[in-house]
Amino acid sequence: VTNKKFGQHLLRNPGIVDKILNAAELKPSDVAFEIGPGTGNLTVKLIESCKRVIACEIDPRMAAEVRKRCSGTGRTNLEVRECDVLKEKWPIFDVCVANLPYQISSPFTFKLLAHRPAFRCAVLMFQKEFAERLIAKVGESQYGRLAVNTSLFVKVSCVCKVGRMNFTPPPEVDSMVVKIVPRYPPIEVDFREWDGLMRICFGRKRKTLRSSFCMTYTLKTLEDNYTTWCALTGNRPEKKSMKEKVLEVLGSLKLAEQRAIKSFALN
Ligand code: SAM
Repeated sequence: VTNKKFGQHLLRNPGIVDKILNAAELKPSDVAFEIGPGTGNLTVKLIESCKRVIACEIDPRMAAEVRKRCSGTGRTNLEVRECDVLKEKWPIFDVCVANLPYQISSPFTFKLLAHRPAFRCAVLMFQKEFAERLIAKVGESQYGRLAVNTSLFVKVSCVCKVGRMNFTPPPEVDSMVVKIVPRYPPIEVDFREWDGLMRICFGRKRKTLRSSFCMTYTLKTLEDNYTTWCALTGNRPEKKSMKEKVLEVLGSLKLAEQRAIKSFALN
């Protein structure tokens, strides 16, 4: 019996399992990290192809089930950790594979993007709408902070779309498998600063950057941050207003009339 609370929708189409594993391009020397093995539909294939598989499963009943199914194959290269993947310290791995519970897509993705040392790739099943926001390209309606923040760390591509009837029980939404490959070399940036900037640019992503930056609340926040920064670093605050400073910077970069959704992309 599956448990709705843990997003348990088991993949029953072996064709999709194969597509996920092909996309992962596993090597015999790989350590694979699987999230939510459930009854082990992916796990039984992973243990055949990899040196070691570390699986993280929150539901003790499922953990027992996957251990039993895999030990039945005679292989001893599976370690199941009974834990919440969002709370657990992650192992070092080459490849991450998961048919994720959709309620943890966003926090899981950001934990994955921040994970070091860099892995070779991750092949993940997401709710279709979430995946579309991840892979959206500049100018498309789903393009926003999720895609741009993700593209700072990784390249994401679509592996295949997966209809809801491929699962038992079927979820209420369709899915998509995506492949994530970390950027090499990584872009060095302070993520909190970057994300603060993106919140301003993409808060109203169809407006011009001039109007996004010149909202009263935004100017006030920038002013407060600037005052704090000056106090902490011993810099003397400039006399110009924050609005003047912002317009000067946007103007010098020729960005004032640009719109985030249409113009803001990393190569
Ligand atoms: N991999 C299996 C398959 O494809 O048939 C099951 C996938 S099912 C969509 C998601 C699995 O993740 C369930 O087994 C569930 O118990 C587990 N899970 C849910 N939340 C979790 C969490 N926070 N940490 C680890 N596992 C979790």
